[in-house]
Amino acid sequence: MESIPDELYQAGRVARRVKEEVYRLVRPGVNILDLAERVESLIADNNARPAFPCNVGVNEVAAHFTPVTGYSEQLSAKSVVKVDFGVEIDGYIADTAVTVTDEPLGDSMRLAAEEALRAALKVARAGVRVSEIGAAIQGVVSRRGFKPIRNLTGHEIARFNLHAGVSIPNVETTDSYRLQSGHVYAVEPFVTLPDGSGEVEAISDVTIFRVEPLRRPDRGLGGDDHRLLEQIDRMFRGLPYAERWLSSLGAEAMSIHQRLVKMGRIQGYPVLVEKKRMPVAQAEHTILVLTDGLEVLT
Ligand code: MN
Ligand code: MN
Repeated sequence: MESIPDELYQAGRVARRVKEEVYRLVRPGVNILDLAERVESLIADNNARPAFPCNVGVNEVAAHFTPVTGYSEQLSAKSVVKVDFGVEIDGYIADTAVTVTDEPLGDSMRLAAEEALRAALKVARAGVRVSEIGAAIQGVVSRRGFKPIRNLTGHEIARFNLHAGVSIPNVETTDSYRLQSGHVYAVEPFVTLPDGSGEVEAISDVTIFRVEPLRRPDRGLGGDDHRLLEQIDRMFRGLPYAERWLSSLGAEAMSIHQRLVKMGRIQGYPVLVEKKRMPVAQAEHTILVLTDGLEVLT
């Protein structure tokens, strides 16, 4: 029997609690920045931290968008809204997402994503190839008359590491990797309309950033640059963050940050949108694979 830290289960419980609140918060007229910050502060209220900035993906925006400081857009009626958030306790992470929509076709996509997730979790156990999970997702989504997004995947999660190498596909692949007991994975089907391309592409907007954990002093950098990287490393420990989370560091730090992003010293994650600008629905759970079964943490 593996020893599983209680913090992991606790992160899952907080995620479930916050998710119930998300269903109440998403409605037309809500300011998108307020929504994301509300989700993040609910996580903090539960003695946890956001594992990454709360993502709010409207319609064709599939992933990697978090509202920036001053963002004033509101949710409008007939939108397909994905809220994707993560809970971190002592490095242990629960990652989950829901789709909320009052648009009938979007709601059918939401149901397809949720059914595909259930089918994936039925297949998932130690020793199962990740491709079998992808095939289960693809099967449900196709039978429902929609398309899975083939270039967005779930992922293994390790301590302080949101994307720990292994990908969990949303379609059948040739990947021979098998799920391992004691490991944590996020499974997240993304679904679009049949006339969508079934792929996402990056646009120029970047709202989420990450600094690799620092191993040794980077001698190629000036003092201010290095100091900011160290600060970010201490604050986020290699997890993704939003620029609005740095506002306490002051205006000068923000301009250094922008420079380090341009230099490529800080990684930026571009916003990902459906290639044909078709709406996308998503469902996501974090699971813990055990020797004799599966724990759905979220
Ligand atoms: Mn997620
Ligand atoms: Mn995820």
